[in-house]
Amino acid sequence: MPMMTGAEYIESLRKLNTEIYAFGQKIENFVDHPLFRPHINAAAVTYDMAHEPEFEDLVTVKSHLTGKKINRFTHIHQSTEDLVKKVKMLRMIAQRTGTCFQRCVGFDGLNALYSVTYEMDQALGTGYHKRFVEFLKYVQENDLMSAGSMTDPKGDRGLRPSQQADPDMYVRVVKKTGEGIVIRGAKAHQTGIVNSHYMVIMPTVALGEADRDYAVACAVPVDAPGIFHVFGRQTNDERRLEGEIDTGNARYGIVGGEALTVLEDVFVPWDKVFMCGEYQYAGMLVERFASYHRQNYGGCKCGVSDIIIGATMTLAEYNGAAKASHIKDKITEMLHLSETLYCCSIACSAEGRKTASGAYYVDPLLANIVKQNVTRHIYEICRLAHDIAGGFIATLPSEKDFLSPKTGPFLEKYFRGVAGVPTEHRVRIARLVENMTGGTALAESMHGAGSPQTQRVMIMRQSNMEHKKRLARKLAGIPEQE
Ligand code: SF4
Ligand code: FE
Repeated sequence: MPMMTGAEYIESLRKLNTEIYAFGQKIENFVDHPLFRPHINAAAVTYDMAHEPEFEDLVTVKSHLTGKKINRFTHIHQSTEDLVKKVKMLRMIAQRTGTCFQRCVGFDGLNALYSVTYEMDQALGTGYHKRFVEFLKYVQENDLMSAGSMTDPKGDRGLRPSQQADPDMYVRVVKKTGEGIVIRGAKAHQTGIVNSHYMVIMPTVALGEADRDYAVACAVPVDAPGIFHVFGRQTNDERRLEGEIDTGNARYGIVGGEALTVLEDVFVPWDKVFMCGEYQYAGMLVERFASYHRQNYGGCKCGVSDIIIGATMTLAEYNGAAKASHIKDKITEMLHLSETLYCCSIACSAEGRKTASGAYYVDPLLANIVKQNVTRHIYEICRLAHDIAGGFIATLPSEKDFLSPKTGPFLEKYFRGVAGVPTEHRVRIARLVENMTGGTALAESMHGAGSPQTQRVMIMRQSNMEHKKRLARKLAGIPEQE
C-alpha cells in the first residue's frame, strides 16, 4: 500500500492511541471533533491529490530507494527539478485548502536527516544513515505523515541548553540502555502533530560539547507511551463549535493545528535513533531543515494568497467597487507581493545543489530570503485585503443572527451589496477574508519556519561578505594585499 487516499489516511488515525488535551479536557475521538477535523481534512488533501491524474506529476514520484511510486511528501529530492516540483505542489495544494496542510514539516525533516546522517557517518564513522534509510523505507511503504519536531520550549533564551535552570527546556537523552534511549522534554508549536503518525525529533539549535545530551535525533510514534499533546488555541477557533459560515473555511480551517507535545521519559529503540551525542552536527541539521522549510513558504503562502486575492476581488465586485482605479492598483500590488514570494521559492530550488549523500539541497541564502519576505509581504497583502474589503469584515453579526426570524430579514436587507448577489454570498466571502487575514494566520507567517531574526542570521552568514568586499576594492583600485 504505497499510497493512501485521504479517506484511508483518516481511517489510519483512528487506529492510533494519540493522547490529546484541549480546553482542559482529554479528547476521546479527535478525528471527528470539530476542533481538529478541518486540519485533518487539509492534510488528507495531500493524500487525495496523489490519486488525481491531473496532479500525478507533482504529487507522486518514483522512490530512489525502492523504485516504487510514492507520495512526494515521503520523497528525498534527487534533482533541482524535484525541488522546483515541491514548490509547485505546495502552491497547488494551498489553492485547494486555503490553509496549511501540515505535511511539509515532516517531509523537510526527512530530507534534512537524510543528508546530515550521511555526512556525519562519513566524518565520524557512525552508522546512522543506514538506520535512517530503513525508517524512510517504512515511511514510504506505509505513506506515513510525520511531524517535523524541532522547536524546543527554550526557557531562558540567553542560556545554552545545558545552562538552563530546568534541564528539560530542550529535549535530551536521560538514559541509554542496550535496547535504546529514553528522552525527556517537550516540543513546541508542533504543526499537524495530533494528526501525524510519527514525530521526527531533531535539535533546535547548534550545540557545544557541554550540550551533548541534547544532541538527539530520532523517530517516535505520536502515540508512544509518555507522549501527550496539548492543542493550541487559534483566533476564532470556538466558531467551529457553533456553525459553518462564521469560520470562513469550514472544511479546512485557518492555518495548521499546532500543539505543545510533552515527552515524559519516552523510550526510543536504537533503530529509530539518528543522532545521539554528536553535538557537532546539530547546527548543520538545524540549518538544512530550516532552509528546506523556508523554501516552502513561497509555495504554500502564495497558494493561500491566490485565494485571499481572489476573495478580495470578489468582495470588491460584490461591493460595487471593483472598477475603481485605486482598487485595481491595490490588487496589482497584492499580486506583485505574492508572485515575488513564488519567484524566490523557485529560485532557491533551481539553484539547489547535490549533497554528498546524493540528495539535493536548496540554496540556503535564497531560501532564507523567501521566508524573510513572507514576514513582510503577507502582512501587506492582508493589510490591502482589509483596506479593500471594508469595515464590515470586523463588525458582521453571527450566522445565528442571519438565521433568526426577528433579525435575519433586516440583516439580509442591510448587508446587501450590488443587486443580483445574495447577501449570504457577500457574507461568506467576507468571513473568508476575515479569517484568512488576521490573528493566528498572520502570526504564523511571522514565526512559522523560524522567527525573522533566525533568517537574518543565516542571510548574513551565507552572504559571502569577503567576496563582496574584494569586488569593491578591486573596482576602486585598492591593491589586494590591503
Ligand atoms: Fe507546509 Fe506551509 Fe504549512 Fe509549513 S506552513 S507545513 S510549508 S503548508
Ligand atoms: Fe508553517
